[in-house]
Amino acid sequence: MKIVLIILGLILLLIGSMFVYALYNPNHDVKPSTDIHKKEIDGHVYHLMKSMSLKDKLKQLAGDTGQLLYVKLGIRFGMLKQYCINYAGRDEKNGIQPIAFSDGPRGITIGPSTNFPVAMARAATWDIDLEKRVGDVIGQEARSQNANYFGGVCINLLRHPGWGRAQESYGEDPWLMGKMGVAITEGVQHHNVMACAKHFALNSIEDSRFYVDVKVDDRTLREVYLPHYQMVIDAGVASIMNAYNKVNGEYCGHNKWLLTDVLRDEMGFKGFVTSDWIWGIYDGQKAIKAGMDVEMPMEMHSGQKLKKYIDEGTLTTEDVDKCVKRVLETKLKFLTAKDPMEYTKDLVASDEHCKLALEAAEKSMVLLKNENQLLPLDKTKLKKVAVIGKLAMSEETGDKGSSYFKPKYVVSPLQGITNALSGFTDVVYSDGVNINELKEAVTGADVVIVVAGFGPEEEGEFLVNDKATEGRTQQDVVGKGGDRFSLTLLDEDEQLIDQVAKLNSNVVVSLVGGSAIICENWKSKVSSILMAWYSGMEGGNALASIIVGDVNPSGKLPFTIPVTHDQLPEFDPFAQEVTYGYYHGYTLFDKKNIEAAYPFGYGLSYTHFEMSAPVIEQATLQEDDKLVVKVAVENTGLTEGDEVVQLYVGFNNSIVDRPVKLLRDFQRVSLVPGESKQVELNVNAKDLAWYNPESKQWEVEKMEYEIYIGNSSNRKDLKVSSFEII
Ligand code: BGC
Repeated sequence: MKIVLIILGLILLLIGSMFVYALYNPNHDVKPSTDIHKKEIDGHVYHLMKSMSLKDKLKQLAGDTGQLLYVKLGIRFGMLKQYCINYAGRDEKNGIQPIAFSDGPRGITIGPSTNFPVAMARAATWDIDLEKRVGDVIGQEARSQNANYFGGVCINLLRHPGWGRAQESYGEDPWLMGKMGVAITEGVQHHNVMACAKHFALNSIEDSRFYVDVKVDDRTLREVYLPHYQMVIDAGVASIMNAYNKVNGEYCGHNKWLLTDVLRDEMGFKGFVTSDWIWGIYDGQKAIKAGMDVEMPMEMHSGQKLKKYIDEGTLTTEDVDKCVKRVLETKLKFLTAKDPMEYTKDLVASDEHCKLALEAAEKSMVLLKNENQLLPLDKTKLKKVAVIGKLAMSEETGDKGSSYFKPKYVVSPLQGITNALSGFTDVVYSDGVNINELKEAVTGADVVIVVAGFGPEEEGEFLVNDKATEGRTQQDVVGKGGDRFSLTLLDEDEQLIDQVAKLNSNVVVSLVGGSAIICENWKSKVSSILMAWYSGMEGGNALASIIVGDVNPSGKLPFTIPVTHDQLPEFDPFAQEVTYGYYHGYTLFDKKNIEAAYPFGYGLSYTHFEMSAPVIEQATLQEDDKLVVKVAVENTGLTEGDEVVQLYVGFNNSIVDRPVKLLRDFQRVSLVPGESKQVELNVNAKDLAWYNPESKQWEVEKMEYEIYIGNSSNRKDLKVSSFEII
């Protein structure tokens, strides 16, 4: 009887959930854009607000409560938020369209959208134009699936590569991060989809994200952790999502200093702030006063719940109006602008869009090692190729948290390699578990490709929503995603590589992951290492094209891979409190004068490039000037390829403590063998300022600066010149 009742209950829950799902899902129409002139928006908002009741206004400040059941059931039964749009502020009476939110960043998480490589992989392309095109496709697919708000501009800095959600972001450097963030924002917003940059601020530990208190000083905050936010704000990003964690003692969603004094008054942000989901705020009144506008995904502490405070006189209608105005202004600006095209359903994962996913994957893979030029393989000369490892069969495209969705198809590494070699040679596969099977596969193979690395169980969003950390041990969280305690491969993977290397001397390791993997235990045993990331729906084809040389690898690391863990800043996934210092990544390696295993900006090619010494057009500048640096790049090898020219500025003459050097421009250039191109790089003198915490001003030092040009951040790969600001 009890069992029957439980089953009946479950069926009812399922029906209820499907009902709410249907109510709140993509087919719910978001009205198409009309064309209201920008100048008219202020007038519209003014009149709207005059005619709206308090209840109407409060409705704008929280996600639609009808979602409650769905979200709760979704979380309870692990359905989470994928395939779901989150709505806020639907007001038919006043003719106000709702916010219709979809997550990202590897594609629109509503339906079987185009699944791009993860953001970290795209950062490794160092291709701003490509990221803008990716953003453009994401914008189109949002609109054709009825979303108008995209939460996939993840620009949290990778302070430590153990961060579980590293894959969603663009690496350790604020400049590269900012350029990529601006590119995707512009691409998405071109289609009148509001982009949301997240998680503001200093969210780069996953397991303790709901409670960790991140301490930071004024200078580090502004010079290291906020420049990329400033860049997307200057590019007109519509929205910002507050982080779960605390900054300097206060939850970000309640933090007036952070959300108003810094974000709006100092950085000039004009759009609206949403809370991160469910645990983004705990006190609606405090959040509204701090400058958080829309509680998502539903009303728990804000929205109509604010009426009580207004009645009690602790919250004013002016406080509420400020937030409502920001929401309406942004919505009207985007949702009434003229669309550049029509958004039909057939755009979702169209052939053209999937081709872009392939291009991104091909450009993202980073060749870390290639001894004796084992790669590329000459497919006409191969007799047997072995592909090893469970991940070779995997169709995972990254984390299974909020960024997850099921794409139209996924080409696994094995499938891609088999396709590429079909008609040339046999491809044998072993997952590596059975030693005899492994031996048979590997023995006599011309080359063995081991696919090793991670999946959602090893890194990603930490979906254990448990704040009780007392007594929690590493063992309690193993296999549940979240942060990585160790940056090496799993023991079983290292053992597999070891076994394979004993049986065959031509080993390629293709790494699956979203951030740095320490390779020291096994790198000398293999010929080639390729960082292949979570490379999206076309990842297997991209990998195969690189392995057989149809595509020349050109990705460059967006982070530093250390030799040992102790070269990095301290990282405690259970930290209650942590201080973020001024140095991490390559600036820390430079400062300590230590060598990385693979430096930031590093990546090999099948061809060779020569760079001339940098030529500076005018070596004496004033504060408002722009430095112009020219460098000739020549392909001196035998294969067509792309090189990324990187420009760093050095601060050796500074009177304050500053990094040895900082990335300030880069350009990707394609060259056929023998071809030489002149590349022009620019630096605005203003972008060399430091933040003086005494004067609370950005100051450009008048001094001589070094210019470093080359193809990685390693001093050995850089040519030097200098200029001065007077
Ligand atoms: C994540 C956000 C995400 C949101 C909605 C949260 O748990 O931290 O990044 O946008 O869920 O899916």
